[in-house]
This record gives sequence, structure tokens and C-alpha cells, in this order.
Amino acid sequence: GSVFSHVVQAPEDPILGVTVAYNKDPSPVKLNLGVGAYRTEEGKPLVLNVVRHAEQQLVNDRSRVKEYLPIVGLADFNKLSAKLILGADSPAIRENRVTTVQCLSGTGSLRVGGEFLARHYHERSIYIPLPTWGNHPKVFTLAGLSVKTYRYYDPKTRGLDFQGLLEDLGSAPSGAVVLLHACAHNPTGVDPTPQQWEQIRQLMRSKALLPFFDSAYQGFASGSLDTDAQSVRMFVADGGECLVAQSYAKNMGLYGERVGALSIVCRAADVASRVESQLKLVIRPMYSNPPIHGASIVATILKDRNLFHEWTIELKAMAERIISMRKQLFDALRTRGTPGDWSHIIKQIGMFTFTGLNKEQVAFMTKEYHIYMTSDGRISMAGLSSRTVPHLADAIHAAVT
Ligand code: PLP
Repeated sequence: GSVFSHVVQAPEDPILGVTVAYNKDPSPVKLNLGVGAYRTEEGKPLVLNVVRHAEQQLVNDRSRVKEYLPIVGLADFNKLSAKLILGADSPAIRENRVTTVQCLSGTGSLRVGGEFLARHYHERSIYIPLPTWGNHPKVFTLAGLSVKTYRYYDPKTRGLDFQGLLEDLGSAPSGAVVLLHACAHNPTGVDPTPQQWEQIRQLMRSKALLPFFDSAYQGFASGSLDTDAQSVRMFVADGGECLVAQSYAKNMGLYGERVGALSIVCRAADVASRVESQLKLVIRPMYSNPPIHGASIVATILKDRNLFHEWTIELKAMAERIISMRKQLFDALRTRGTPGDWSHIIKQIGMFTFTGLNKEQVAFMTKEYHIYMTSDGRISMAGLSSRTVPHLADAIHAAVT
């Protein structure tokens, strides 16, 4: 017998498992709205032209070698990533108070940040929104933090439970870490307004709560890189400290390249430099040093004025296609006279709509219409097209009537 014969079958990942089920379905009308990856109007994965151009440059440069990167990754990439999220004129960058390390996309950045906090920060609790991306509680628990939740989404209004959020953060222990989605909250698509962000900032600073931003969708929500970074920049503008995990999976379509960054904004340059020395001790035994290709693509684009401009145009086009899908789905439900208020479809922002459909309705839509989504009723708007909107609208209509 095997020494592993006692190992029990683990359940599929709740998000990635949706695709596993989808792949097994032979129906020609099947539709995968589970996974958070952009698709074209033809339903195909997209490699941005600007990424192809950058890769061409890299291939043509015979001086490039495949040596190891330093533990903290590619220096240009780190500098440019901090500039992208904090703003070109950020005093924190100018004063050398920011340390940035290249990590394995958003997930890896969150994990490295979590492990650093578990080793060097005085408060173990991290508050995550309810609900949140399903990987957050697992990442932070395994990093050694104690995961708590704060109220975020109100199913009655399908909007922000702002009162609940203020109450829960107000009663969190002083110094606790608070995970904030920088924009395009996943899975709800509900973000605080700028005024609400300002109130959150004041409350958090008054209680010395430590912000840990998860920025997985910069530029992807509104179509503007600067607009989508406003929440982070508000918290850096007050001179206080925070962590930011960035991902280039969605906004550059570099999903499988696993390219992201963790920045820690500190009060002083000497602190930032000591923090970086400790981040290296977290990273070295975990994966030694990060991969070179994706970070080189990003650095090539960010440092070249023309490529950067080309990127912003392609990014805006992706964001606008998603926004247009919201409008089309909303109109299709109105045309069908589907009972209920569906205005949240056009009010929510980012890749996902939190439909409000329950588990039974989701199961019904999968069984009868071959439409796949997470059981919480979250659908990826990026997986929709003008061609598939009517099928989805028919399914939602049938599920609620
Ligand atoms: N954070 C949030 C909120 C996300 O939605 C995602 C991806 O779905 C991630 C982080 C991490 O993605 P990746 O590790 O692919 O960058």
C-alpha cells in the first residue's frame, strides 16, 4: 500500500473549480462566468498589443541574459511600480520612504506582506471585508495572522454597509491591520465614494489601524490608472504608513506571468531600508527570487513613454467593454420585464457583478442553461459578449420567476 493511502480527496478551489466543471460540460451554449480573466467580444483570451511589442523588444535585445534576479526582483520594475500606484509626484517616493519588492503577482505580494507583518508587527489581527476574495482568509491565516472580518456589503441595498463598516473598524483593537480593496471590490463590485474613503481614512488613522491595500484592478475599474489609485494615494498623502499589494494580472493581461509588487510605505527612509532587509529574509527561503520575464515586460512598458501611452489606451478599451456589458445585461433584463431592481448591475464597478442570485438560482442556471459562476452569484462581466448577453438574461429571468 502507499504511504499516502490515508490522504483524502480535497475539494476543488471554489473559484478555479468552476472552470473545472465548465470544461467537463459538452453543451455548445455553455458559458463560463466564473473565472476573473478578461475575454474579447469573441470570447477569446487577450494578449495586449503593447505586451507583444515589449516582448519583441526583449527578444531582439541580445544583451539580455537569464541570470537570477536579486531577491527583491528587478530594480526598474520596483521603482516604476511604486510610481504607478503612488503617483509620479509622491513625496513618499521622493523621500525614499517606500520599499518595493517584486513578488508572484497579487497573491504572492499579499503573502509576503502577511508574513512580514506576522514576524515584525505588534498586532496579529487583520480585518478583511465581508465578503471578500476567497483566497484572502487562507493567505493571511497561513502567513500567521489572525483573520477577523468587518461588515462591507449590505444584501438589502446591494451596496456598501457603510455604517456597519465604521462600527466594526471602530471597535477593532488599536493597531489592527485592515485589508482594503483599492478599487473594484471583489466579489461585490461595490466601492466607497471618495467622501466615504476620507471618513474611513480619518477613523483608521485616529485608531492607528494599519492599511493593507490589495490593488488587483488598477485602471481596470474606471479605465483610468490615476482614478483607480485615489484611495491608496489618500492614505499616503497624510504621511502615514501602509502596505500595498499590486498585480499586473488583469490590467496588463499578464495572468500566468505572475508579476506583482509589494510596497511598504514607511515614515522614514531608514525604517524603509531596514524593512526591506527583513522582506529579503521572508522571500529567500520561500522562492529565493522572482521570475524575470513578466517583470521585464512591465518595466519595458512603464519606462517608455510611447508604450505606456499604448497601454493606457488598451486598458481603457478593456474597462469600457466591461462597462458596456453591464449596460447590455441591464437593458436585456429590463426588456424581458425580469422582476426586481437590477440597477446594481450598472452601479457596480470592475470585473464582477454581484447579482444577488442565491445558491439555488445559480445551480438552476448551471443545470438548465449551462452557465457557470461562483455559488455566491458573482458573474464575471469580462466573460460576457453581445452574443452571450441574451442567453444570460434568459437564464436570470427563468431563475427568478
Ligand atoms: N486580490 C484580488 C481582490 C483579486 O481579485 C485577485 C485575483 O483574482 C488577486 C488579489 C490576485 O490575483 P493574482 O495573484 O493573479 O495577481
